[in-house]
Amino acid sequence: MRNTKHTGMNMSLIKKQNRSSILNYICEVGPVSRKDISDATGLTPASVTQITNQLMDEGILEEIGTNSESNKAGRKKVLCDIKYDSEYLFAINIEAEITTIALSDLKGNCIEKINIQTDNRIGAEDFLKKIAVLVDKIRESQKKIKRCNIKVISVGICGLVDREEGISVHAYGVWDDPVNVCEILENETGYKTYIDNNVDAFAKAEILYGMGRKRDDFLLIKWGPGVGATIVIGREVYAGRHGKSAELGHFIVEQNGKVCSCGRRGCLETKVSYHAMQEIKPFQVGAFGDCVRNASGREKELFDEVLDLFARTIVNSATILAPEKIVLSGKLFSDSDIRKKVIDFCMSYDKKIDVNRVLYTSLSEMEDYIGPVASYVSEVIF
Ligand SMILES: [Zn+2]
Repeated sequence: MRNTKHTGMNMSLIKKQNRSSILNYICEVGPVSRKDISDATGLTPASVTQITNQLMDEGILEEIGTNSESNKAGRKKVLCDIKYDSEYLFAINIEAEITTIALSDLKGNCIEKINIQTDNRIGAEDFLKKIAVLVDKIRESQKKIKRCNIKVISVGICGLVDREEGISVHAYGVWDDPVNVCEILENETGYKTYIDNNVDAFAKAEILYGMGRKRDDFLLIKWGPGVGATIVIGREVYAGRHGKSAELGHFIVEQNGKVCSCGRRGCLETKVSYHAMQEIKPFQVGAFGDCVRNASGREKELFDEVLDLFARTIVNSATILAPEKIVLSGKLFSDSDIRKKVIDFCMSYDKKIDVNRVLYTSLSEMEDYIGPVASYVSEVIF
């Protein structure tokens, strides 16, 4: 006998998958006809029509005219695209040094952005209240955007996150204790709030707007201020235990090394984080390339050691995961000489980990806010 309840659950799951595959396809190729969607996804024309009509009712899709080719009946094909500019959100990225508050549309076009120093001395709640004030300030200054078109807040934060509960479990280098980020921001601003790990969120941006449009599998590595990584398999972020895997920064590289923010000793971060490298020679995050180029003697040796250690960790991770590509991102990788040095060190261990395999993100200009935008688009809308 068929269990109707079970079948019902499966039906809604299938419907959700069909909806998501249609949206992913449109996101990947841009304006398309319903016929092309049906051909590419294998869904029947009837279900494509049904789902796209529903997405139009929800204001997620729009018809944007016709293309030049006609179909068999001589009618021009009507093209659909995601209605990126009808909905806006506040994208908030909280990292150890800098916090960004941005108003963006769903395509990642930034309307207004404020960067502030992440202040972990005033306590989590007060810092989140400070962010809420800036959210209000941006909303007040953007009078052209209707209030009702700004839908949500999406937060990206370093460390472990419980997305379901809306909690930052342990934001390494920011707060040591769990923080009800979503609840606090919702109470302060009135906006429904979502949260995600910052590197996972950025990987979702790569999937939606960056290199993930062409590649299914990759390892994303972010450097600055700490080290973060995310594994993408089949265009999905791989979530491990506690919803976070690939903690590259917490690979242990030294016996009895310094205590790390995660509580263990000798992690990669204790050697290569922005803070750790200040002990070799103080520099501003944006001037890392110049600092390394100008270093000499013992300082040069120590920086080379850091870059070599990082490269070795990349090679070891690539050995285990065998990703198609490795994507570098983050402020400390923004200098091409630094990337070249790290890739050269990688090649000294494994010739195949070269410039064809290790790429630099195409989203570097947007990396301080695009993650939370993509996280919301892929998790909630898709
Ligand atoms: Zn650690």
